[in-house]
Amino acid sequence: MTIALIAHDGKKPELVAFVLKNKQSLRGAKFITTATTGKHVSQAGFDCESVLSGPKGGDAQIAARVADGDVEVVIFFRDPLGKHPHEPDVQMLMRICDVHDVPLATNPASAELILEGLLVRYASTVEVE
Ligand code: PGA
Repeated sequence: MTIALIAHDGKKPELVAFVLKNKQSLRGAKFITTATTGKHVSQAGFDCESVLSGPKGGDAQIAARVADGDVEVVIFFRDPLGKHPHEPDVQMLMRICDVHDVPLATNPASAELILEGLLVRYASTVEVE
């Protein structure tokens, strides 16, 4: 399972708190991150593959990976109170998630629910097999 992790600057602490809180559930997941988010996630002790920083095209790179079918979940904690020069790329990433029906969480409450859903799905798959 590959999970994309992205956070605007004002939301990076919330993303780090989210991955630390859910460390156990995230065990075994691979992470792909935008560059600066990746630095924070690595400092928190998680291995991750980083692409360019969001404003330099990182969100577009992650969108391409979603379109290629390489990413199962996108967690993107956006800052709704900030202005972002790469807003078109952010919109594009969200659109690509919708095009390919890939779960997208833009805040911690949604991310928690997606994670809980994955755990239920995973548990029931194991039971059936
Ligand atoms: P960053 O990019 O992780 O490089 O800060 C995130 C974004 O703003 O899209």
